[in-house]
Amino acid sequence: FHVQRFENEPNTDFSRAENREDMKQALKDVEALFGADYPLNIDGKAQDSRSHIISRSPSSKETVLGTVASANRDQAEQAIETARRAWPQWQKIPADHRAEYLELIASGMQTRRFELAAWMIHESGKSWKEADAEVSEAIDFCRYYSLAMRDLVSELACDYPGEENRLFYRSRGVAVVIAPWNFPLAILTGMTVAALVTGNTVVMKPAEQSSIVAAKLMEIARDSGLPTGVLNFLPGNGEELGPVLVGSPDVDLVVFTGSQEVGLSINKLAAETVPAQLNVKKVIAEMGGKNAIIVDDDADLDDAVQGVVNSAFGYAGQKCSACSRVIVLKSIFDEFTERLVNAVESLVIGPADDPGIDFGPVIDQEAYDRINDYIELGAEECETIVSIDLSDRDDGYFIGPQIFNILEEDSRLAQAEIFGPVLSVMKARDMDHALKLANNTAYALTGGVYSRSPKNLKRAREEFLVGNLYLNREITGAIVQRHPFGGFRMSGIGSKAGGPDYLQQFMLPVNITENT
Ligand code: GLU
Repeated sequence: FHVQRFENEPNTDFSRAENREDMKQALKDVEALFGADYPLNIDGKAQDSRSHIISRSPSSKETVLGTVASANRDQAEQAIETARRAWPQWQKIPADHRAEYLELIASGMQTRRFELAAWMIHESGKSWKEADAEVSEAIDFCRYYSLAMRDLVSELACDYPGEENRLFYRSRGVAVVIAPWNFPLAILTGMTVAALVTGNTVVMKPAEQSSIVAAKLMEIARDSGLPTGVLNFLPGNGEELGPVLVGSPDVDLVVFTGSQEVGLSINKLAAETVPAQLNVKKVIAEMGGKNAIIVDDDADLDDAVQGVVNSAFGYAGQKCSACSRVIVLKSIFDEFTERLVNAVESLVIGPADDPGIDFGPVIDQEAYDRINDYIELGAEECETIVSIDLSDRDDGYFIGPQIFNILEEDSRLAQAEIFGPVLSVMKARDMDHALKLANNTAYALTGGVYSRSPKNLKRAREEFLVGNLYLNREITGAIVQRHPFGGFRMSGIGSKAGGPDYLQQFMLPVNITENT
């Protein structure tokens, strides 16, 4: 399923001194911009609002990074009306011309890659490496969807004697994009440019916690010269704006990534219709996971430990792809756990702008409190294996890595998505039991198996029910085109981002038959 001519954007090699210097300089340059205010953008015009989001660094709570206008309900309605007005013209623009805007946005991000990474380090608490990889992913989404759209333009023919049939795609209309804070650039960009290139106009609602990174994307998109009104920037409070955006009869498509709770409420509200409505809304939602890695008794334990640590604790476990359960075959349980503990105890946690950290803070006070509640619960219902206490570090939202031994497979710790640096280990009697434990979750996003047994790897391919299964490697860090990403069950609705049939969901197929 290769898209011709597509190549992934390479990440920055921080082993080279000049790249480290560029990153340090970008962090300083961005620091000089702290305190600026960022407006909404509706119909190509900057708009202020009465209330503002104050963006603070999760590594240093006192540091205000800037303020962002927080849209009210009227402004949300204005943004939808604008997108509706801009749609007839935009959908008529040839697809390969629309695709060029994505290439311009990709070039804009490439030129500003250190600056964008610096903003994510400051605003989202990402490590240098994670922030840098995210810029590459955002660029990849633009280039991949741009090329994929060019391939979708041609009409499909299915002719019979005396009858000509043509199948082609039309855009849906107005898309609302509701994005998460954990991939503040890549996921926001991916969802937005997919909607744009397929001919929809967009109201872009970023997560409050990452509004400045979103404002930077808006600057780059504006600089690409997109026609007025095609992309509208609507930062603000999700609880206030969500119902207006999702409930509006003028919206045709809702593209969401975030929590299961919000995803399900969007799906429900979007299903309601009013008599004047033209379309039943389409919802594309990516919602989370409770992902497991199985470690077989013949696995390469060095690899397995490293893969589990990276998958569980990268970005403090704040990825829907993160490993939150490691299921270990009983004969190697003690040895694996001991090695895991050693590896986890040597992780370095600190402010995200420090290049020496393994992971930084969690995103905000709410996340900090929620994760700490789970840690308390873990201490009650499980056996604690590692608990690194960083509660004296109250400059930022730092939580040390935690590992619990699950005693009861249906316990809350074994079932709930925690979205923090908390890993559970579970002991399995054999591969049957391991697969049963792995599948005993409402989610089905990512999963992994470390094994040298071809038979067990084959079984996993057939029986481990997830959207993205990784064998003998870590389970986070999907790369556009190579690893189309997305889940099923309660993990999401729709096809895979960065994959061959993602764009089709943003459009409507039409077939025209002519009697000749
Ligand atoms: N695509 C990301 C990965 O493979 C995860 C995205 C998410 O957390 O929503 O790690």
